[in-house]
Amino acid sequence: MPRRKTESTAAELVPEQLSLPSLKDAAADCRACDLWKKGTQTVFGDGRSRAKVMFIGEQPGNEEDLTGKPFVGPAGRLFDNALEEAGIDRKQTYVTNVVKHFKWEPRGKRRIHKKPNAQEIAACRPWLEAEIALVKPKVIVALGATAAQALLGPQFRVTKERGKFLESTLAPYVMATVHPSSILRAPDDETRHLEHRRFVDDLKKLARALK
Ligand code: SF4
Repeated sequence: MPRRKTESTAAELVPEQLSLPSLKDAAADCRACDLWKKGTQTVFGDGRSRAKVMFIGEQPGNEEDLTGKPFVGPAGRLFDNALEEAGIDRKQTYVTNVVKHFKWEPRGKRRIHKKPNAQEIAACRPWLEAEIALVKPKVIVALGATAAQALLGPQFRVTKERGKFLESTLAPYVMATVHPSSILRAPDDETRHLEHRRFVDDLKKLARALK
């Protein structure tokens, strides 16, 4: 019987001496899954090293891939505005993604987001676990279904459980809400406005819990 090939992950690349700069440097050369071939660069997490809250999205987008920074594209700008409305200073937070390279497919001249698969998420998980171990946030907020299911299990439904504080081994509390990019994809202005308000309401709950 042929031996099953061990799945490759980034685990052996994580440095023994953990610090955010050493992690970022090590992740820059990561080849633990094939996504490094698609993306321009590794987009590592960014923010305060002892942040009380860590936001985790799915993966970097087109602008993030080009700049090397998370949450700086259109969804990142919406995120910044929503944080401000909720009274949360982004400089006091840490933002990252479950997958650190941009997965995309061509559509004409554009690069269109493609959802990472379970193997890519598993390969990248050691980076996320190391970030959580270092930052030790009080609350982790999963943004969107991919991040929420990676953290809370494949049965988790953001539509049913959004905005609730859930106990977790990852941090004292985990909350899930939508990814800001889903608000940008709303079919009309009225829905977009409504979804934005609901997102800000989730963040306001978080702001109260952080006080
Ligand atoms: S997506 Fe993650 S595991 Fe895959 S190459 Fe990039 S950093 Fe490594």
